[in-house]
Amino acid sequence: MKSLDLRADFPQLKRIIRDKRLVYLDSAATTLKPLPVIEAVRESMAFGASNVHRGAHFIGDEVTGRFEKVREKARRFVNAANVGEMIFTRGTTEGMNLLAQTLGRTHLAPGDEILLSQMEHHSNIVPWQMIAGEKGAVVRFIPVLDDGSLDLEAAYKMISSKTKIVSLVHLSNALGTINPVAEIFAAAKAAGAFTVLDAAQSASVMRLDVGALGCDFLVFSGHKIFGPTGIGILYGRFELLEALPPYQGGGSMISEVRENGVTFLPPPNRFEAGTPAIAEIMGLGAAFDYVNAIGFEKLEQHSTQIMLRAEAGLRDIQGLRRIGTAAHRSHVFSFLLAGSHPSDVGAILDEQGVAVRAGHHCCQPLMRRFGIPGTVRASFSIYTSVEDVDALIGAVYKAKDLLS
Ligand code: PMP
Repeated sequence: MKSLDLRADFPQLKRIIRDKRLVYLDSAATTLKPLPVIEAVRESMAFGASNVHRGAHFIGDEVTGRFEKVREKARRFVNAANVGEMIFTRGTTEGMNLLAQTLGRTHLAPGDEILLSQMEHHSNIVPWQMIAGEKGAVVRFIPVLDDGSLDLEAAYKMISSKTKIVSLVHLSNALGTINPVAEIFAAAKAAGAFTVLDAAQSASVMRLDVGALGCDFLVFSGHKIFGPTGIGILYGRFELLEALPPYQGGGSMISEVRENGVTFLPPPNRFEAGTPAIAEIMGLGAAFDYVNAIGFEKLEQHSTQIMLRAEAGLRDIQGLRRIGTAAHRSHVFSFLLAGSHPSDVGAILDEQGVAVRAGHHCCQPLMRRFGIPGTVRASFSIYTSVEDVDALIGAVYKAKDLLS
C-alpha cells in the first residue's frame, strides 16, 4: 500500500516531539496546513493588506476581486447554484448560531420541534437549545444504535408536521459514521421542515453536492479542510436566505442607515457584518484549490486504505472496545481500553509522539448514550502514512501493557 506523496507539503510533519517524529492523528480536530495555504495567508498579509468592498484604490479593488473569487470557489465546492448563497463565517459553530438566531428566531413557535441526533457535536445542539428555550420549542434527538448508526426507523417516526428544523451531522467526529442524510432530509422536507447539514467532517473526504444532499443549509469550517482557523462557510438556498433577518448588524451589510431606520443588503452581504477575515479567506481559497488538485476519488481511497490498516492492526488487541462500527464510516477510529481512562491512554500515546484526542469530543450526549466518559480517537487525513498507522498500533500495544 502506498501513501499519498504529499507529506512534504505539510511543514508540521517535520517536527520532532520528545526526540520522535510527530505522528499526527488528530486531523478530525484540525487538519495540518499545506504550503500553498500558508503562502496564501502570508502573501495576503505581506502584500494584500487592504479592506474589501471599499473600492477607493488599486489594492482595495485587487483584494476585493480575489476575495469574491474565493466565494465562487466555495460555490463550486458544494455545487451550489448561485454565488450569493455562500456566506463567510468564522466556522461551523458560527454557521449554526447564525441559523439558530435567524431561521430559528423567525420560524419557531411554542411546541414546534427541532430534530437533531444523539451523535451531534455540541455546536449542533447548544445553539438550538438556546433558541428553543426562548421560543418554547422542543429539541428532540434521533437515537443512535449500538454500532454507532442512526436508528432510522425511529427517525422517520419522529418526523411530523410539528418538525420545523432537522439539523444533522453528515460524518460523526466521534464515531466516523456517515449518515444517510439525503434520505432523512427527503422525509423532513416532505413534512415541511427546513434541513441543515453539519459537513464539518465530511468536507475533507466526500464531494459535497447541496442539491443531491437535499439540504437547505450546510455549514463547514476551513480549518478542517487544510485551511486556516477562524473562517468557514454557510451555504443557504437563496430564496430562504433572502427571507431571513440579519444575524449581526454593522458595516458592509446595510444599503442605507438613517437616524430613524435601516435597510439591509441582500445575501450574502446581509450576513457578513464588519471587516471579514481576509487573509484567512485567501488561505481558504488555496485550500479549495489544494483539495481539488488531489481530487475526492484519491482522498476517499486513501482514507479507506488507512482505515483498513488501522482496523486490521488494532483488531486483535484484547480489551480494546471500538466505539463506532457502522457499515458506512470514515477516517475516525474511536476506542477504549478495558479498565483504563481514555486520557491515560492518550497521555501514553503522546509520550510516544503519537498525537490523538482523548475525551468526549464535544459529544457529551453521545458519550452518555454509550455510558462512557469519552474515547481515545485517532483520526486520519491525506498525509497520514502507513508508518503513522503502524506507530499508532505499536503505541496502543504499549499503552495496554503499561495499564494492565
Ligand atoms: N461539527 C463537527 C462534526 C465537528 O467535528 C466540529 C469540530 N470538532 C464542529 C462541528 C465544530 O467546528 P468548529 O469548532 O470549527 O466551529
